[in-house]
Amino acid sequence: MKYAVYTLGCKVNQYETQALETMLRERGFEPAERDADVVIVNTCAVTAESSRKSRQAIRRLQGQNPGALTVVCGCFSQLEPDAVAALGADIVFGSGDKHALAEAIERALPARSVDDPFQRRAFEPLPAGPAAGRTRAMLKIQDGCDNFCTYCVIPYTRGRVRSLPLEDCAAQGAALAEEGFHEIVLTGIEIASYGKDLPGKPTLADAVEAVAKAAPQARVRLGSLEPTAVTDGFCARLAALGNVCPHFHLSLQSGCDDTLRRMNRKYDTAAFLAVCGRLRKAFPGCALTADLICGFPGESEADFRSTLAFLQTCGFYSVHAFPYSVRPGTKAADMPGQLSRAEKEERVRRAGEVIAGLRTAYLTGRVGQVEQVLFETDRSGHGGDYCPVRIRGSARRGEVKNVLIDAVDGDTLLGELTNPSE
Ligand code: SF4
Repeated sequence: MKYAVYTLGCKVNQYETQALETMLRERGFEPAERDADVVIVNTCAVTAESSRKSRQAIRRLQGQNPGALTVVCGCFSQLEPDAVAALGADIVFGSGDKHALAEAIERALPARSVDDPFQRRAFEPLPAGPAAGRTRAMLKIQDGCDNFCTYCVIPYTRGRVRSLPLEDCAAQGAALAEEGFHEIVLTGIEIASYGKDLPGKPTLADAVEAVAKAAPQARVRLGSLEPTAVTDGFCARLAALGNVCPHFHLSLQSGCDDTLRRMNRKYDTAAFLAVCGRLRKAFPGCALTADLICGFPGESEADFRSTLAFLQTCGFYSVHAFPYSVRPGTKAADMPGQLSRAEKEERVRRAGEVIAGLRTAYLTGRVGQVEQVLFETDRSGHGGDYCPVRIRGSARRGEVKNVLIDAVDGDTLLGELTNPSE
């Protein structure tokens, strides 16, 4: 049996797809570009646009593989199972229970399994590892979120916080390093809450330590991080490990205190700036990146200008700016002061101008420095700070080499291997 798969959304979805693929391959399924017997779409619902793209992907895969069994899972089908069934899906799963999904596909029985995410109590351990052809492996250490930011639908699709026990973090990290991966990305829906559901309440620093020590030959990168996790102790413990990537992607969302309050974020701009300072002290020269929502309900022109100024103050390497998206059922959907689509997009465009300047400044500052590059092709890869790097010579895909940066080409750093014969 052949399957075709398409994944939308975050790293957790990518991780869960690769785990599902591993389980399918163990059952004798093979990936296929066309004429698949089963098409699988792992959907996303984080914005209205993600839901639209999820619908589109289902229709496209069905059109490309007429007669195939249609399988849909993920956050969009968790939230709108009826809409997914109406699109002709034979198997509709939500965002949990990938083991049962693999079994349902194997049996090819029309099935529907959209549970109540708030009843999920245990972390669902999935096979760790990369999708075929990847050079870095993802390791999902956490699922769910209890924060209920007023704009976000994820707590309603993913349920409460569940964490992978520390011993399993270590075992999976060691197994990935053993397979030869030089980079392990720790992912989750809200990794700062890691451990609050486990006996003894281990923290994210404990989980990073467990993986980094079990895989000393690999570098460990953290996925998107809530700033509240970043204390002095957290920074000191991570810096002491020596193999944590100097790149931190922080959920900023707004640089205006009033907007942050209405978003139900758990910090203000002063606390966020202190977090940037702590990270830079522990990891000198580290790259800080962030997410930003433009045009949250009630965000005035003055609020938005404060946000733009705050981006400069923080000195990010890069920021992912996106327009606020109304998600029915969330508090923000009913807030007054909703901005038009054009106003939100205009703010994203203005943020983009500021971000482009910040990126150029960061990349220019890398010239003359040595980057430790994980090669994804024989000529290009990413540094520890996640900057794209291209070399003039060649290296072996999957290996990590030191590169002396001597120029910037657009968004990419250029350089030479410091020791080509190594
Ligand atoms: S922390 Fe906020 S934005 Fe992130 S998943 Fe939880 S509710 Fe959503």
